[in-house]
Amino acid sequence: MYNNSISIWAEKLRKREVSSAELTQFFLKRIEKLDPQYNSFITTCNEQALAQANAADALLAKGDAPALCGIPIAHKDIFCTRGVLTTCGSKMLANFVPPYNATSVENFARAGTVTLGKTNMDEFAMGSSNETSFFGPVKNPWDKECVAGGSSGGSAAAVAACLTPGATATDTGGSIRQPASLCGITGIKPTYGRVSRWGMIAFASSLDQGGVMARNAQDAALLLSTMASFDAKDSTSIERPVEDYSHTLNTSLEGLTIGVPDEYFGEGLNPETATTVQAAIAEIEKLGAKTKAIQLPHTKLAVPAYYVIAPAECSANLSRFDGVRYGYRAELKEGEGVEALYVRSRSEAFGDEVKRRIMVGAYALSAGYYDAYYAQAQKARRLIQQDFVEAFKEVDLIMGPTAPNPAFKIGAKGNDPVAMYLEDIFTIATNLAGLPGMSIPCGFVDNKPCGLQIIGNYFAEGRMLNAAHQFQCATDFHSFEPADIA
Ligand code: GLN
Repeated sequence: MYNNSISIWAEKLRKREVSSAELTQFFLKRIEKLDPQYNSFITTCNEQALAQANAADALLAKGDAPALCGIPIAHKDIFCTRGVLTTCGSKMLANFVPPYNATSVENFARAGTVTLGKTNMDEFAMGSSNETSFFGPVKNPWDKECVAGGSSGGSAAAVAACLTPGATATDTGGSIRQPASLCGITGIKPTYGRVSRWGMIAFASSLDQGGVMARNAQDAALLLSTMASFDAKDSTSIERPVEDYSHTLNTSLEGLTIGVPDEYFGEGLNPETATTVQAAIAEIEKLGAKTKAIQLPHTKLAVPAYYVIAPAECSANLSRFDGVRYGYRAELKEGEGVEALYVRSRSEAFGDEVKRRIMVGAYALSAGYYDAYYAQAQKARRLIQQDFVEAFKEVDLIMGPTAPNPAFKIGAKGNDPVAMYLEDIFTIATNLAGLPGMSIPCGFVDNKPCGLQIIGNYFAEGRMLNAAHQFQCATDFHSFEPADIA
């Protein structure tokens, strides 16, 4: 029963076959017992969770509770949670307890969900392996010597090991899709602006987008319908009614055209990953969709453009961590002033990858270099976006690999930032264009999970989840699970 889907748990809760308090205790016990092996949680919220569960049970007893009422979930530790430690994976915020909830957290609370805890992540969401966390790496439940992917590795590993039926996550350049792929689960990053960024600690604001992880597309649809909202507190939030993504899951794929980009099957892609993903696309064809080869000619500019734009934005966003307003404050020596307070607090509390990005970003934005780097990167970003605009004139969805390789060994890429950055070659372009993307399990490479990436046009989340659900009705890759989690 540990592996029941959210929709099954929701039905059992409604029929009162199980109470939210029992369910919550069940998952808290699993976390306590199994998580020392994975390190997927930074904080668990035992007391608060049981209080939320009791409140949910009272609502359920009345009979008109929202769909997710009483369901336990986990939040990535980038979302501010009132009264609960929110670290963003950093020593800088290792003591930060926010006085408010992020809008996403609030949306889930209003729907009656229970917060089991806060999941581990790369420091300030910078990374592809969850090795930059101040709280230590997350281990992949499929192979504990391997990374879980990043930056939402904690959420992905927790869902894969069934320590929670679902989790929130964020994706700036691939951080929902890549760990979902490496951990064999379903993850979706919606269109930029669909999920509020308010209370979600900022990394690169023009790219950051919240989303969800679950064991299948049906559950992801339930979670995303609750998380998405218009939010006046986020100036990039889009005022548009939220769809109930569960309603369109069963639409036939007959007549759908799937674009398969040539650029996503070239250099850098593990050949076994390529054949596994191609087999998955063939399966989608069997369900009635047609495929069409397409070109996204500026794909090669995505990683270089991202690694100018994301650091530039992060250097501005992270300037707020100054030892005065939030988090860590260095101890000053006799005679040291405010300058030393800034320098030493930031030097002592940020990790290497965060420092590297701040330096690159500050350099790229400095007088004399702005036009050479930042302005060029913005031009590349527009070309990448135009590629997608052209492609979506001819196709309904785009499919390809999520990550170039299956999960790699912890430590294998630690000293090579560029090798790490290339983990996201297939995911970054969607963030630059603001498009929705998702990853679903589609097979195994080296006995480790492999993900199929589905990219949609703006606000095509319903169609993406529909295609994913139809694939999952016809295949069982999403129901495999790691060996020792029972
Ligand atoms: N791996 C990418 C990076 O390191 C993307 C991270 C993310 O999506 N948050 O920036």
